Amino acid sequence: MTALDRPALIDPESVRGFLSREEGEALARAARRVGGLGPIVEVGAYCGRSALYLGPAARAAGTVLVSVDHHRGSEEHQPGWEWHDHELWDEAAGALDTLPAFRDAVRRAGLEDAVVALVADSRVAAHLLRGPFGLVLIDGGHALKTALGDWRAWAVAVAPGGMLAIHDVFPDPADGGRPPCEIYRHAVASGLFEAAETVGALRLLTRVG
Ligand code: MG
Repeated sequence: MTALDRPALIDPESVRGFLSREEGEALARAARRVGGLGPIVEVGAYCGRSALYLGPAARAAGTVLVSVDHHRGSEEHQPGWEWHDHELWDEAAGALDTLPAFRDAVRRAGLEDAVVALVADSRVAAHLLRGPFGLVLIDGGHALKTALGDWRAWAVAVAPGGMLAIHDVFPDPADGGRPPCEIYRHAVASGLFEAAETVGALRLLTRVG
């Protein structure tokens, strides 16, 4: 193990989030493999669980993780929705704020040198950042407009030979919302990507075009 090749100092599963350990470890393996092609990007950071898998992998590959989130929560995190967590509510702002939890997790994990937080709307961030990227994880909002917007904004920025990862792909509608599954199918149908790996609700695709 080199100085750059060290794991997060806290267990990612101790941080709020929706990614399973198996999914996180698959993401980390992929990011280490393709991190030499460019930075790693995640769209949708929430409280930092996925950053704790991707950050060490990016660092080991000699790059960084750019973690994009407006930190106001997705549709499904808003009050009255299924995944609302009132502990993340900022009374003064009258809005959700996941940035303090994210920053705390990254600090406690010893990843401040490996994780760059970009507090911005996904499409604004895509305009600001220059690819190509080694790996882009789309794990943002599940509304169709949001998911399609993320696909359009980020897919073309994946380096040839790099990877696109999509979380919350549920082929059976009984298991979850459709939009992530629809953008996954779109990615395969586009000819730009080939399916590479399936782990839980995570799909990994390799950019071929
Ligand atoms: Mg997710």
